[in-house]
Amino acid sequence: MTRAMLNGRLLPLEEAKVSVLDRSFLYGDGVFETLRVRHGRPFRWRQHLERLEAGARMLGIHLRWTGQELRAQAAELIEANAAQDSILRLHLSRGVGKRGYSPRGADQPLLVMTAHPPPVLPAGGMAEFAVVSSPWRLPAGDALGRWKSASKLLNVLARKAADEAGADEAFLLDTAGDIIEASGANVFWMRDGRLHTPPLSSGALGGITRAVILELARAGKRDAVECQCRCEDLWNADSVFLTQSGLGVIGVRALDARPLLGGGLASEWQSAYLAVLEAETTAPPPA
Ligand code: PMP
Repeated sequence: MTRAMLNGRLLPLEEAKVSVLDRSFLYGDGVFETLRVRHGRPFRWRQHLERLEAGARMLGIHLRWTGQELRAQAAELIEANAAQDSILRLHLSRGVGKRGYSPRGADQPLLVMTAHPPPVLPAGGMAEFAVVSSPWRLPAGDALGRWKSASKLLNVLARKAADEAGADEAFLLDTAGDIIEASGANVFWMRDGRLHTPPLSSGALGGITRAVILELARAGKRDAVECQCRCEDLWNADSVFLTQSGLGVIGVRALDARPLLGGGLASEWQSAYLAVLEAETTAPPPA
């Protein structure tokens, strides 16, 4: 039986219910995290928790569980669902409040944890996506992009546009035409041996996988540059790839129905990323 964790209580999934007056349901008034679990351990737990805590602080939602308590709840959920190889989702809502946008008086936050099947990677070990540019623009330097907020309408519309075009993902562009990220992933490109990614000031989410790739670049003494980019820059790149906790590194094989150069370079980053994922989820836990 699949189980979910609701405010620290393990329940059968069908019994884990949220009020129709819940503010995350009504207004997207919450934050969430999506983590990869391998060998029963959530990968980069601390970084995900810090991002969740930062989002809760920004929204002024009191996260009433300590990091240790949340880690114990995650372990219990993973165990109950035999979800040793899975995706773990944490969702923090401000909870129920009076009708209207004001959060005043809504002080019983709700935390839901669910476990989901792991992503399926193709035989080569790396997914490859056709990407379109979303027709929906974000304000340049959008401040809200920094947190993994539960208000995701632009991302949903972008993915809908990708679905309708027969593509797998969509780039989110700002009003100046710069690419910020994909609807559910950060973007990187290689040019003349150099790694590039848009800066977080562009409004991109500080992806945990993005941070791992930048660490790998530093460790391998590879040049990594944070800079704005437009679709034109990607046409001439040696490789374009996306990063996210679910699939790791994803090669981009086409942009707006035009084929892009080889995924070979991207799959090197995926191998390096998967090695870190394996190493950190099999190493003895820190004392
Ligand atoms: N940007 C957006 C908009 C996302 O939804 C995600 C997926 N969480 C990412 C980037 C990648 O973040 P991470 O590597 O932490 O999964």
